[in-house]
This record gives sequence, structure tokens and C-alpha cells, in this order.
Amino acid sequence: MKLKATRRIRRFDRERGCYVYDVSFTTQAPLTERTIEVAEAFGLGVDETQEHVLYRDFEFHLAEGDVVYIPPDEIGVADCRDKIVLADQQTAGDWMGLRDGLLLRLQEMGVKGLIVVEQDDYMPSVVHQRADFSVSGSPTSDNISLVQTIPAIVHVSNKDGGPLKRLVKGGGVRARVTSVVDTGWKTLYLLEAEIKGAMDPEKFLLVNGHVDTPPFSPGVTDNASGDVAMIELARILNKHKDKLRRSVRFAFWPGHELGRYAGSTWYNDAHWHEIRYNCVGFYNIDSPGVRGATRYVARHTSAETEQFCRSIIERVTGQANVPVHRPARAADQAFLANGVPSFSTYPLLPEDHPDRWAWTGGSANAWWWHSEHDTLDKTDKNILALDTQISLTAVLELANAETLPFEHVSTAQEIYDFAVELQDKVADHLDLSRVLAEAKRFQAAAQKLEDAKGQVGGDPAKGEKLNVTLMRLSRVLNPVIYSQRGRFQHDPAEWSPIMRATGRYTLAALGRAVELPHLAGKTTYGFLRAQAVRERNRVVTALHEAVRLTEGVLALL
Ligand SMILES: [Zn+2]
Repeated sequence: MKLKATRRIRRFDRERGCYVYDVSFTTQAPLTERTIEVAEAFGLGVDETQEHVLYRDFEFHLAEGDVVYIPPDEIGVADCRDKIVLADQQTAGDWMGLRDGLLLRLQEMGVKGLIVVEQDDYMPSVVHQRADFSVSGSPTSDNISLVQTIPAIVHVSNKDGGPLKRLVKGGGVRARVTSVVDTGWKTLYLLEAEIKGAMDPEKFLLVNGHVDTPPFSPGVTDNASGDVAMIELARILNKHKDKLRRSVRFAFWPGHELGRYAGSTWYNDAHWHEIRYNCVGFYNIDSPGVRGATRYVARHTSAETEQFCRSIIERVTGQANVPVHRPARAADQAFLANGVPSFSTYPLLPEDHPDRWAWTGGSANAWWWHSEHDTLDKTDKNILALDTQISLTAVLELANAETLPFEHVSTAQEIYDFAVELQDKVADHLDLSRVLAEAKRFQAAAQKLEDAKGQVGGDPAKGEKLNVTLMRLSRVLNPVIYSQRGRFQHDPAEWSPIMRATGRYTLAALGRAVELPHLAGKTTYGFLRAQAVRERNRVVTALHEAVRLTEGVLALL
């Protein structure tokens, strides 16, 4: 598809007393054999030329006021009512900008606008775009208040920020900030396609990636390259669908950037039951085909899929024991509370690569992430082909596996190790002996289930029972391990710069108990302890249920 023309019209409307904007662009899709084949495979029509309207008759107002610089440790303390605040991005220790508490605190204090100085000193003239709030998907009556409403927020580059700070610190600076913010209920289009399996069509693997990109980034490596890989996978699998055991469903998420995973979050809620009972796995594709990105990681990979994911990467690339990163509520991981096993085979730039800037998330950790520099020259066709080959192997093996390749001995071990470490830190402030005992019991049962895998061959009824159990164990355990608010709600969208393999997201809710010894004697101690006791009960209950489920099916195999 080609961008044909962009139309921007700005006019001052005297009656309304403000500027009015019209922005639209047209695209052209040349009707080649290839585009027609892809469009037909997805059951779509193709228009040669199409107009996309971004804003029509859109009002915007200018914020004008005195600018004050607030150093990191004074945000939320220093008075800033009716001021335009200049602040540093690293204030929050968060690459995504001044999010969460800090933005809301500034808002409560009545700022008129905010100018944020980017922390990127590696490519100091680059501005990276991102969403400035943490609510996952559509807000609800419970969390709408967490979406900030500061009228104007702009980011300036690290290079421009230096002189700006010096100027503002000198005093007497006024600024006029223009920021176009269009907030409201929108209709988004979500493309999905399913290739039906020949033997067990009800069960499906959800292959997915986001289709949008920040407004001023071409987004070639985050995530146009991923969309290309998905289309290629669909094309190949569609040709050989008679050989597919289970179905493969493709979803192209809209609202990934500005909607904070709006598409995937909606999809999980709208298709909750079929995902809960029939989705065998969640395979996310983001940022493949980046030039120089030759190191693979098993990203967004939950414990039970770890061995499978690593073995795929090793068999296709020869890279053994690649690093594993657990999933977090980011990157369209809207299905964690639903308990779906997650895995991804991610290519990243090697540690010492000159294009690598550790703080960027997508684009294989390249410095051009979420910026105007994310262009076609940043890709490598051969690497994209290899990445797609890894994906094809992963998708095909999971869709066709007679016994699903999930093993829960690792899940049990992870919970056990976590509880041992936490018990050591909290000492007698919280008794975790039941968690430890149930984790051991579950591990023994999960090991027996592993041993039984070899014994069901040839008996489809037993095979089905085994597979259903393997899926249900994830449904019982994963919501407890990877989510804080239970099965039906969505945790705030998290940001972890490189999704470190720290286990930070494993049992995060119970993990907060680690603060108990430091709070001893304070009023807040009781609050955290009450919460920790409830979380402990949640973990024990899930483990207990997992043991019963496993022992129940073992008796039938
Ligand atoms: Zn992305």
C-alpha cells in the first residue's frame, strides 16, 4: 500500500474563537496478483484508492502561561497551579514518560500544560512517541479517573531540552503550547482471519500482532514487518490447511499504541468464553526483520511454554537456551487473566550492536523505535524471512501437536522458588508454609502427568482428556501468576523497557508482601498484611485446584 497524499487544513473560526483542523490522507493499493491473492485469502475486497479521515472540523485551543522547571524530586510537591511545567522524562524512571501517579499529581495540582524533556541521550535529537497513561483498553467507571486530562503535553528532544531548561531556570519565560488531543469513544476496525483445522477445528491458536503505530512514525519495524510476517504465515498455512489439526486464527490489533492495547483488550472481553475454553495458545509477533537483529529471546513466554518456545528457536537458528522473559501486561497481553498460555520468538539486536539503545522496547531495541526514523532501510529481508520461518515452525507444531507441548512442572517450581525467597524476606510477618506445601504437591502431580504423556498414544479419548487438562491447568494458575485483579478485569498496562527476565511479573500481587518487615509498627502495615493474606489464599486455592485437576485426570489415563 502506498501513501498517496496527506491533506492538512487549519483555519481560525471567529465564531467559535478557536482554530479548526482538517487532516486526512489517501492511500493507494496497486492491484497486483499478490495483493489480490492476500485479499482473497482473508475474504476481503481491495479498493484501489481510499481516503482516511483523521480529523474533520476539529477544534483546538492554545494553552498560554508562565513556564516553570520542576526538578524530579519536587514533582507533586512544588506549586505549579496554572503554570506550564517543564520536567524531565526520567523523573519517573520510566521510558514511557511521566505516567501513572506523577501525571495525575500534576493534574490535581492544576497545571495548564506540560513540556517533557526526553531522556534519550544516545540519539539526543530523536523524540519517541508513546501513550501517556496506563489504563488497559476501554476505561471503565472504576478507572476512568486514571486517564489524565492535562490539556497539553508535548515532548521535546534531549538536545532541545538542555537550552530550554537553562532559559526557564532564568525565569520570566512564557510559552504557548499547542497539542491536538481528540478523546472520545471511537470505532476501531479489527481484522481477523481463521484457517480452520481439519481434525479439531474448534480449538485454535491465536497468532497476533498490532497493526497501528504512533501517529508520526512510519512504523516499518514496529509493526509493519510483523504484519507482513503474519500475512505470509496465513498465505502459506492456507495453502496447506488440509494438513492442519487445529485452527489457526490471525488477529491484527488496532489501538495498540494510543488505545493502550484497546483492540486486544476488547477482543478478550468480547470472545471471553471461546478464548477461555478453546484457545490453545497466544503467539504474538512484533518487530521482526530488523537489520542486525540476530539474537533470539523467548519473550512473553509463560512457564509452561518455555521448553517448547526455546526448542523451536534452537532447532531453527541453532541458538540454545535463549533468554526467557515472562509476560507482563504490555504488548497486547490482554489474555493473561484469562489464563491462555503465551509465547513469542523475538529477535533482538545483540548487546554490543551500535543501533541498540537499551531503553527502547519495540523495533528489536533499536534507537529508531517509535520515531520518524523507523523506515524501510532499517529492515533486512533475509532476517525477516528467518523470523517468519521460526514463526511458521512454532505455529505449525503447536497447531498439529497430538499432545499439547505444555509442561507444568516448571510452573510449580517457579511458584515454589518464589515462595521460598519471599518467606525468607518476610519471615514471621506472613506464613507461606501452605503455599510451599501445595506447590510441592502440585509439582509431584505435574511430573506424573508428564510421565503419562507417553502412555496415551493412539487413544484419542485419553489424548483429548490430557490436552483439556493441560489447557485447564494454565487457566487455573496463570491468572494468579500473571494478573493482580483476577480473571475478569484488566491490570494497568505496565511498561518494562526490555521485559527483563527478572520474574518481576510473576506473582506480582503476592510479591508486594516483601514490604511488610519495613512497615512494621506503622498504620499501613495492617493494610498491606490484609491484602497479602488474601493474595496468599488466592495462590493456595489455585494450587489446590491444580492438584485436584491433575490427580483427577491421572486416574482416568
Ligand atoms: Zn510493537
